[in-house]
Amino acid sequence: MSEFAKGEVWLVGAGPGDAGLLTLHAVEALRTADVEIQDALKSAKVLEYAAGAELVFLGKRGGKPSPKQPEINARLVAEAKAGRRVVRLKGGDPFMFGRGTEEVLALVAAGVKFRVVPGITAGIGGLAYAGIPVTSRDVNSSVIFLTGHDHTGLSPEGIDWAAVGHAAGMIVLYMAMRHMGEISDKLMAGGLSGDTPVAVVMRASMPEMRILDTTLARAAKDIEASGIGAPAIISIGRGNLLREQMAWL
Ligand code: SAH
Repeated sequence: MSEFAKGEVWLVGAGPGDAGLLTLHAVEALRTADVEIQDALKSAKVLEYAAGAELVFLGKRGGKPSPKQPEINARLVAEAKAGRRVVRLKGGDPFMFGRGTEEVLALVAAGVKFRVVPGITAGIGGLAYAGIPVTSRDVNSSVIFLTGHDHTGLSPEGIDWAAVGHAAGMIVLYMAMRHMGEISDKLMAGGLSGDTPVAVVMRASMPEMRILDTTLARAAKDIEASGIGAPAIISIGRGNLLREQMAWL
């Protein structure tokens, strides 16, 4: 494993929550870091590894005032230039809807050395904790990952939902809880059956994990009635039915 040098930033994927899903590189980075700049709140178990580092919370959280991306980038650069070993801890994988690109480009522009430590993304590993395989040979051979809202907090305008509905056997939605009604309507208008199985997995891999099994037509109503909230990953497709046999937890 390469050494974590002073003045470097490691952009580390923390996985969906279960500390057992941290990579060896992630654990090494957390143990060695001088400062750990967090994204979303991580489980206490994950943070135990960073016991020796100063903890700074700088993250974006839907609907709440949060630091602007340029502020986060500037802080990463400043900490590195001060000669500290900086871990930027991101939920899941840094490049899956995680703004990892913006942060890396800011480091490049500032001439700061960095390393990327990929993590297990909620849309694959999180679903696996609910017994849902994102691909399987006989059911779905392709998968599409989408965000349910863009940086404005609205559902993304640029998405051709009819095309999405036909493109893949499994659709995995991040950050889609607030817009699930609208998204379901658009997918059904585009030709996807209202009976298509939907699973909503809240706090996947964590002790508080909750799973809702529903259908595209009922999803928004069932989500509201169940009280399930963010963070949740939503999977749409027949692969969800495998849960019945494959849920292992
Ligand atoms: N980079 C992250 C995703 C960041 S976007 C990753 O790779 O997983 C944040 C969204 O990810 C949440 O709104 C939710 O849709 C999803 N998410 C992250 N962690 C989750 C978890 N433990 N359980 C369910 N969904 C999760």
